[in-house]
Amino acid sequence: MSTQKHYDIVIVGGGMVGSALACALGDSDLTIALIEGREPVTPWPEDSMDLRVSAISRGSQNFFARLGVWQAMCDMRVSPFTEMHVWDAAGTGSIHFDSAEIGEPNLGHIIENRVITKALFTRAGDFHNIDIFCPSTPGRLQLDNHGAQLELADGTILRSELLVGADGGRSWVREQANIGVKLSDYRHTAVVANVTTELPHQHTAWQRFLPTGPLALLPMSDPHICSIVWSTSDDEAVRQCELDETAFNTELEKAFEKKLGAVVHSGPRARFPIKGRHATHYVKPHLALIGDAAHTIHPLAGQGVNLGFADARCLAETLLAALAAQQPIGSFKTLRRYERARRGENLLMLEAMGLFKQLFSNNLPGLCVLRNTGLALTDRLSPIKRLFMDKALN
Ligand SMILES: Cc1cc2nc3c(=O)[nH]c(=O)nc-3n(C[C@H](O)[C@H](O)[C@H](O)COP(=O)(O)OP(=O)(O)OC[C@H]3O[C@@H](n4cnc5c(N)ncnc54)[C@H](O)[C@@H]3O)c2cc1C
Repeated sequence: MSTQKHYDIVIVGGGMVGSALACALGDSDLTIALIEGREPVTPWPEDSMDLRVSAISRGSQNFFARLGVWQAMCDMRVSPFTEMHVWDAAGTGSIHFDSAEIGEPNLGHIIENRVITKALFTRAGDFHNIDIFCPSTPGRLQLDNHGAQLELADGTILRSELLVGADGGRSWVREQANIGVKLSDYRHTAVVANVTTELPHQHTAWQRFLPTGPLALLPMSDPHICSIVWSTSDDEAVRQCELDETAFNTELEKAFEKKLGAVVHSGPRARFPIKGRHATHYVKPHLALIGDAAHTIHPLAGQGVNLGFADARCLAETLLAALAAQQPIGSFKTLRRYERARRGENLLMLEAMGLFKQLFSNNLPGLCVLRNTGLALTDRLSPIKRLFMDKALN
């Protein structure tokens, strides 16, 4: 006999974005099931560092504070950055942002993904109205006029008024719901690693645009350790990952113009193919997509998960407002409010990143002059710089 359970909302995917949505609906009158396929993050040795990190905007930080998880993240480890330095390998154009110029203590934080996930997932478990199924994966999804029915691999059946797909870029939920995606292949793979440099990083996020793609060094809490995200062609990424440590360090130093002196150590490397994806719809009756399940974006501006947190916040607010107005939370009319609020904004960011990638990964002389002049001009025009910084902070 299979067990059948009823919830108002079932969230598939307890990563950063799915867990954030659960927390945002915590302590409400809604009953929630959070389904996560992977084992929860286990304690890690103090001196180890996650390979995956995220640049977190002030908007996301404020959201974390409202969810009651910001202090827990600070207690684990977060790294504020106060300056940003961006320059073009082919020319002299550069731009420098400093939080002091806008009277802010910093421009954001670099946080290990495991810190974010652990804080949010643990917090979700504190709420009386949230049941967590982990590790657990769904086997079948049915949508009908009354709601969604999800069958878990162990045979448990979960019925709900609303099913949310927060299951990442290759979303199973999106596929089951027959929602298409617009793909843009950036033809980039990101190589990530943690590196130790001779000179301190000065709490600065560094980004150099090479003709092959951007190379970012993100400052971690140790003043000599940075997390690198080196976007390059797929073949080049494979080659870089196969180099021995000394050869890799030498190539990295060269690519980064030794701005932080020698690269004295680099840890294990991993590769992530980068694809732009945008779901043609975020919602259907009784179904919504958030985070990477709805959109994936080039990491060059460090925006992907910040957009996902904005989705989670917006969907939670939409659902709580509908609940307060005694409107059905799974109706198309309710869910369209979320889609209208988020899809255009995410599309704008996706298009902007596509354009940036085209503009900077190109050695045509005309484009070279244009982007170097653009960088230099922006650097000198305080109102435009301020606009950029305000946007990055939100
Ligand atoms: C190299 C790189 C650097 C990046 N840097 C930044 C940055 O600096 N700033 C930024 O904002 N963004 C950054 N991003 C983007 C960011 O990592 C993603 O936007 C973010 O991970 C999306 O979170 P998510 O919770 O939507 O999806 P995911 O992180 O993919 O989480 C999905 C979750 O769902 C679970 N799941 C999947 N399928 C199932 C299933 N069938 N059943 C149950 N559970 C399931 C998974 O186990 C996982 O826990 C970067 C991305 C890359 C590749």
